[in-house]
Amino acid sequence: MRVSGPASRAIAQAITGELPEPRHAQYASFRAAGGELIDQGITLFFPGPRSYTGEDVLELQGHGGPVVMRELLRRCIELGARIAEPGEYTRRAFLNDRIDLAQAESVADLIDASSAEAVRSAARSLAGEFSHRVHALVEALTELRAHVEACIDFPEEEIDPADREAQAGKLAALREALAALIDEARQGAVLREGLTVVLVGRPNVGKSSLLNRLAGDDVAIVTPIPGTTRDYVRATISIEGVPIHLIDTAGLREARDEVERLGIERTWRAIESAGAALVITSPDIDAAPDERLPEGMALARVRNKVDLTGEAAGLVREENAVRIGVSAKTGAGIEALRAWLLETAGWKPHGEGLFMARERHLVALAAAQGRFLAAAHTQAIEIMAEELRMAQRDLSGITGEFTADDLLGEIFGRFCIGK
Ligand code: GDP
Repeated sequence: MRVSGPASRAIAQAITGELPEPRHAQYASFRAAGGELIDQGITLFFPGPRSYTGEDVLELQGHGGPVVMRELLRRCIELGARIAEPGEYTRRAFLNDRIDLAQAESVADLIDASSAEAVRSAARSLAGEFSHRVHALVEALTELRAHVEACIDFPEEEIDPADREAQAGKLAALREALAALIDEARQGAVLREGLTVVLVGRPNVGKSSLLNRLAGDDVAIVTPIPGTTRDYVRATISIEGVPIHLIDTAGLREARDEVERLGIERTWRAIESAGAALVITSPDIDAAPDERLPEGMALARVRNKVDLTGEAAGLVREENAVRIGVSAKTGAGIEALRAWLLETAGWKPHGEGLFMARERHLVALAAAQGRFLAAAHTQAIEIMAEELRMAQRDLSGITGEFTADDLLGEIFGRFCIGK
């Protein structure tokens, strides 16, 4: 159990009878108000500001078990504590300047990471690598702004052309650095969000066999979404660490009652939000699949069981579709299919150096990019100054220098309690 805030010290003393030595594991008895023993365990005391939240933090490590925990919790509450809100420890760490907002978000991303690659990139963001890159941009931008603002007070004709040129050069360098950052951040976002893929095909064309093949040596995380069996089946596999969420459309047609109809509607909504579809056929199943797919969705026509007929395995690009011959049985063509899925997800094989980024960060980076573009194309120095000011606000929002309270509520509300 973790307690944070100015009363932690007094709570430690009341429960264990002594003030634990800072940052030392200490064996102690945890006692109720009347002195009865609740549990025995380890206390850890971190005086602020050198603690997770930046405040005095007390950790009590007991044997666990719901009733023991409840008794200990009740004792802490009796002594003035209250139950934490979701993500409140991390929120306090942010408010006390222990970490910035992008780092705080990566705590949740680290916990939710679905692959080793996602863990590594979230850990890099948590260590502040993404924030450093953003800060470096903001610093260069601040310098440019100072330069530009200094010119504003002069009439246009008195500004030294060399100054204008230097400004244009700095702005060009900034735009380049931002474009590189956006590229990396997008990759991080792919690791986080992955790609949702609809599987369309008649029963027995080999959808489940393909799914198992695709998962390959990567640990296949098959996570049926809890719900009724009438709902769509969903599984997530990981290809090179990129989560691929698969929606099986089997049984989409036969709505026999209201409940089924609702299930089918939900499936269609999921399909509409998907990023790609695999329409699967095989030589031994002749009926054509139902292809009512949203327009503009990336689509591959997958021909399975090519081992039966000797049709060619591998990928062929056609004008408005991609055809991929595969055999779930022999593995032929599977590499091509995996590569197509990764490409569609927007994944480029990177060596190292990814960091986790969220949609919110991508939006802010893109907004700043738009400001830079406008600044580069205006002749009026006042407008340039204003665009650069707005760009700085966009970038600073990523690390949380300017953040609205409701955004904080949104971000930390998604954490679990105790983090
Ligand atoms: P689903 O109903 O679409 O999920 O199809 P399954 O994956 O259950 O496969 C249906 C049948 O086709 C099974 O007997 C599989 O062993 C067989 N099958 C699947 N893929 C292949 C393949 O590539 N080649 C051959 N020869 N048989 C396959």
